[in-house]
Amino acid sequence: MAGDYTLTIIKPDAFNSGKAGKITAHLEQQGFKIRAARVMHLTDAEAGEFYAVHRERPFYASLCNFMTSGPCMPMVLEKTDAVAALRVAIGATDPAEADAGTVRKLFAESKERNAIHASDSDDNAAREARFFFSESEIIRAR
Ligand code: GDP
Repeated sequence: MAGDYTLTIIKPDAFNSGKAGKITAHLEQQGFKIRAARVMHLTDAEAGEFYAVHRERPFYASLCNFMTSGPCMPMVLEKTDAVAALRVAIGATDPAEADAGTVRKLFAESKERNAIHASDSDDNAAREARFFFSESEIIRAR
């Protein structure tokens, strides 16, 4: 999936406050195409595994608690150079530091409740996409 695909999650803060449609429209307007999507409520085990890379960080427990606080919306998105493009589109982790017009500047509440996840490398995009979707659930160019 190198290059053109990335994994995003509309996080529980944004999903619960009815911003999923606005965020999705915002991304589609920037040329991202939805190639897989689902709505789900992460279990403690799923959140812990997804964010295992942050296990030693002081915010890990709080982050997992937040990510299991309500439904979220994982999606696979396609665009040329998708990982880098989506990182630009979402903005800095802390919305206070995010550039104008980014998803986090527009829709996020705080550094933790920051509306959206985006993969940070092609390898992680592939791994994270498979965390939520089987290969047959991802639309590919024919
Ligand atoms: P991202 O790639 O911009 O999402 O940021 P990271 O991979 O560094 O962190 C993963 C997620 O953990 C972020 O999106 C936030 O939801 C949360 N997070 C990151 N840093 C902090 C922090 O300093 N405090 C808290 N409470 N949460 C944080």
